Amino acid sequence: MKLAGECNCGAVTMSVSGEPSIISICHCTDCRRFTGHVSAYIIAFDAAEITGPVRGWTTRAESGKEAVRFFCPHCGSGVYARHIGEPRVFINGGLCIPGTLAPPTKEFWMRSAEPWDAAYPNTFAMEFQPLREPIPQRRLEWATAEGRCNCGQIRVGVKTIQHAVVCSCTTCRRFTGSISAYLAIVGRDDLEMVGRPKTWSSLAESGRRVRRMFCGECGSSIAIEHDARVEVYGGILPLGSLPPPEGQRFRQNVEKWAKAYPVA
Ligand SMILES: [Zn+2]
Ligand SMILES: [Zn+2]
Ligand SMILES: [Zn+2]
Repeated sequence: MKLAGECNCGAVTMSVSGEPSIISICHCTDCRRFTGHVSAYIIAFDAAEITGPVRGWTTRAESGKEAVRFFCPHCGSGVYARHIGEPRVFINGGLCIPGTLAPPTKEFWMRSAEPWDAAYPNTFAMEFQPLREPIPQRRLEWATAEGRCNCGQIRVGVKTIQHAVVCSCTTCRRFTGSISAYLAIVGRDDLEMVGRPKTWSSLAESGRRVRRMFCGECGSSIAIEHDARVEVYGGILPLGSLPPPEGQRFRQNVEKWAKAYPVA
């Protein structure tokens, strides 16, 4: 197998060949926040060629292992992760050219999968241990859902989710590192944000200029800003607060084996 890709700004490139040791979907809360989607597509190789500057954020993963998650510090694209003391490279599939990814054989951390996001039929799906932290208590007064990035510097409160969609545009794929992105669409007045995300601005595939926000410290995906509204990357909001997506943008861009939204 050969895979290649680059981040949204082009500063980071990745290429890899050989047989992957894991092809998986991961629903752990760290992956949810890092990608901003409700799950991550992770493909592990013994080694990969990665060029350009990446920033790493070290954490104790929910498995108990110490892990470093790497992202492009300029555009916020998710790139890969490593476990300390282990040579393997866990590539974020969204970086790869759309359509080139093989179906997953495993799904991890089903206990933090959204109720409407069932495991793929042919995967070996595992629950693992219960949530290590309770669902966060609401502190922002009016928020109905309050979440945070992995390092906690950025907190987001959402009052009403007007619509929810899944976007599989190339920019969202690279930005999240997942094959799609869950987007909770909220009015500007229905969003409260504490902390200062980094922003990366680009011309969207719709032709409009949009700004994407991510945490400069831990790489978690936060939101897309348009003129009139904000689309919050759902992975940073608490488990269970996300309504099932009503539709999917750029469906043609996603692997044929991938789920279609809305889920039947
Ligand atoms: Zn970049
Ligand atoms: Zn952070
Ligand atoms: Zn998108």
